Amino acid sequence: MSDRLSFIRSDLSQLAAYKPHPGGNPTHPVDRLDTNESPLDLPLELKEKLTYLYQHTLEANRYPDGSHYKLQEAIAEYVVESAQVSWDVTRDRISVGNGSDELIRSLLIATCVGGEGSILVATPTFSMYGILATTLGIRVTTIGRTENNFAINLTQAKAAISNRQQPPVKVVFVVHPNSPTGNCLTPEELNWLRNLPQDILVVVDEAYFEYSQTSVAEEIAQHPNWVILRTFSKAFRLAAHRVGYAIANTDLIQVLEKVRLPYNLPAFSQTAALVALQNRHLLLPLVEETIKERAKMWQALTTDFADKLQVWETRANFFYLRLKNQEHQNEALADLTAKLKTQGTLIRHTGGGLRITVGTKEENQRTLQRLAN
Ligand SMILES: *Cc1c(COP(=O)(O)O)cnc(C)c1O
Repeated sequence: MSDRLSFIRSDLSQLAAYKPHPGGNPTHPVDRLDTNESPLDLPLELKEKLTYLYQHTLEANRYPDGSHYKLQEAIAEYVVESAQVSWDVTRDRISVGNGSDELIRSLLIATCVGGEGSILVATPTFSMYGILATTLGIRVTTIGRTENNFAINLTQAKAAISNRQQPPVKVVFVVHPNSPTGNCLTPEELNWLRNLPQDILVVVDEAYFEYSQTSVAEEIAQHPNWVILRTFSKAFRLAAHRVGYAIANTDLIQVLEKVRLPYNLPAFSQTAALVALQNRHLLLPLVEETIKERAKMWQALTTDFADKLQVWETRANFFYLRLKNQEHQNEALADLTAKLKTQGTLIRHTGGGLRITVGTKEENQRTLQRLAN
């Protein structure tokens, strides 16, 4: 490519595109347990409501509401309710993105672009931080995690921040609970984040908040350099609509509003997110089901498969596992992933392990059966 398109930045030729989920409805039935979506579509009742709104109130010829006014208000209310936040979360503490992926990119544009900073990530973690940073020419500093519990190696983290590299670390990305490993931030990690200098932005990605029921939202008011990212792609069953949001103090939200595209969120997506929030009593009970299913999976994986699989405790809607006593771990995991695929279960081989989404009861039974095969 670089020979022919010589106008393209040379560093982009090294970069592989994010390999998206095949998407849509596959032609033959498969259990799609590779992207941590909710296993159930929206209830018909809500789809009918959306259909009605599309037919009767949405104006396809008009630009969508570029201020996201109603959605910001509804999200602010949900943030307070869901995480028992005692400070006044108002709509000016919320910015809405085309998926949290867009917000990640906006944060990078606002902080590091132009050689002003690099980012810090502890792997294995969500790959989009590194991918999006690289597309913007931003350097990624990678540190490790402890093998037994995937806690961030804080010695390495502190060294990376104090070594005065050029460009300096300007943003730290953490996921709470982490993907693909399922663990929440530890008290030590939280203290490290609290004590970071104010000129470093702390991004706490709470994509799995509804499953972990733990949030740092209460602390946002005290930290002008913190931002939480959440999404409608997981527990809210709206992955198709691409809606994510950021929670932060007003100054930082204003910067995000400056950086985003003016009409970043289609009208139908805004409506879908609003309807999902207004009807959360119909959607969120499935989270309880998934948590029960997760407990059953944990029981099965740690007893029936105890001699073969190493499984980590998880606070999200997925499990992370590796094979025990396996010298050629990555080859064996690739082989297992391929064999499960042949049997009709898609999982994700990432970060030197396997990530398996908790699906419906039937899907989970098939996962266990197919693993046993
Ligand atoms: C799934 C996921 C997201 C969601 O991204 P969207 O762009 O909102 O779909 C964000 N962060 C992490 C860690 C995720 O796993």
